[in-house]
Amino acid sequence: MQISKREFLKQLGLLGAAGATGAAFGDEYVPDKSKLPPGSCGDPKNVWFGRHIFPLEHTQTDGPSCYLKDGKVLEPAKEIPIFHQTDVVVVGGGAAGFSAALGAARAGAKVALIERYGSLGGLFTNGMVLIMLATSRREESGKWTLVTRGVCGEFMERVGKFGKDFSSQPTNTTPAKHWLPTVDPEAAKYLMDEMIVENKNIEIFYHAWGVDVIQDGNKVLGVVFESKEGRQAILAKQVVDCSGDADMLFKAGGDYKQITSSITTVFRWANMDTINPPPGSKAKFWTHGNEGNPDANWGGASMNTGNPISIRDLTKVEISQRKLNWERVMKMRATPGWEKVYTSNSASQIGIRGSRLIDAEFIMGRKEIYEGYDKSDTVGWCGHDGAHTAFPFVYRQLLPKKIDNLLCAGRCLGKGDTIDTFRLICPCFATGHAAGVAAGLAALKGVTPRTLAYSDLKSELLKQNVFI
Ligand SMILES: Cc1cc2nc3c(=O)[nH]c(=O)nc-3n(C[C@H](O)[C@H](O)[C@H](O)COP(=O)(O)OP(=O)(O)OC[C@H]3O[C@@H](n4cnc5c(N)ncnc54)[C@H](O)[C@@H]3O)c2cc1C
Repeated sequence: MQISKREFLKQLGLLGAAGATGAAFGDEYVPDKSKLPPGSCGDPKNVWFGRHIFPLEHTQTDGPSCYLKDGKVLEPAKEIPIFHQTDVVVVGGGAAGFSAALGAARAGAKVALIERYGSLGGLFTNGMVLIMLATSRREESGKWTLVTRGVCGEFMERVGKFGKDFSSQPTNTTPAKHWLPTVDPEAAKYLMDEMIVENKNIEIFYHAWGVDVIQDGNKVLGVVFESKEGRQAILAKQVVDCSGDADMLFKAGGDYKQITSSITTVFRWANMDTINPPPGSKAKFWTHGNEGNPDANWGGASMNTGNPISIRDLTKVEISQRKLNWERVMKMRATPGWEKVYTSNSASQIGIRGSRLIDAEFIMGRKEIYEGYDKSDTVGWCGHDGAHTAFPFVYRQLLPKKIDNLLCAGRCLGKGDTIDTFRLICPCFATGHAAGVAAGLAALKGVTPRTLAYSDLKSELLKQNVFI
């Protein structure tokens, strides 16, 4: 809506007029009950939804909209309401953002966590990528030591207590084995909510999409998010970008490398425990996988490439992979012994393996891992991932060049040849935890993350049970 300033102010003056809307509700037509046929739902008292409609005050008014001038769409300058003020704001609630919020809050900072969807976990839960990889280091004795401790270790312990149906390796009682549980996504979402609400330093806001930063030169002062209420601002001393795609770094004008990688939508199939092919059947489909729940199997339809931040490409992948999955399941259902298999759900977050990789103070590639690097600012470990043995990661990897008061964590770290390590779930938990603790301390001490003393950071990380 394009309106004049005068009209806009006039509308602001109407803010308190929600009562008028209420009057409209009060005026609703009520039929004469004596004339209604028996059992009729025309009586408002019998209508469940109807009895729960109440007028609400408008919480926001719309400002002047964009307009077309000389063939260009222009956005007028307007004031953005300040929704909240805090020490640290974390954007994105995946494995990295969840841990960052807890890390900062446990260091004593007030935290706001904003997430565009309605649950935590990101690709781990909403992307239905369920195996927690790269958790441990193999010692010379052949035993495994859990290295992704802190928030990640606590989460694994607690989800393990839900039992085998929810975590395929419920406990790590034997270090003879690499602990790599496949976790039920709903159990993970529930536990993540619990762990966040247990901490009174954190306020979480779902359905809030981070769309911009508030900046003074290269210094970030908070974020702007978009929701059904429009654009609102959160002022914060420190920002942690855990959006996976480095959205906040991009908005702050930070440098990054953009990559494409295989894109996969994950589907989950049910009734896998009913599969019963007749003797001699040659049919070959997936059966039950590694989930604790014997009824389910999860897997990607296929791998497509495309630009992971182009909505045209993402749309094509969603449609083609849904079609492929549908056809595959229909073929299964037409095969004797597989008739009851069906798709129970599809991932609500598309599976992006890599998009923007940040230009940080230090970028770790395979060369650095094999030829050595300065480990004096180690802030956590990535476990053995098949390609590499376990190795420590350093604080400089989380610090973007040029931009102050912004830390980045999760799958936006690393070089092309190491994204397959840094993007794994447990390393994302670990880099997020370190970034959150650093942001919390920087906020409380009134310093920038770049000038934060490593000795302070290390001692808080050790206090929070991080393996260094
Ligand atoms: C198909 C596939 C299979 C994989 N298999 C495995 C596996 O078996 N094991 C393993 O360990 N790893 C696996 N991975 C990798 C791993 O799952 C992810 O890389 C990891 O979970 C990423 O965590 P993250 O927190 O960095 O990002 P994400 O999980 O992407 O989290 C980002 C969060 O931020 C939110 N967000 C994004 N932008 C905004 C914004 N602007 N404002 C607000 N919120 C925002 C998102 O909704 C999301 O919740 C796989 C990945 C894919 C795609």
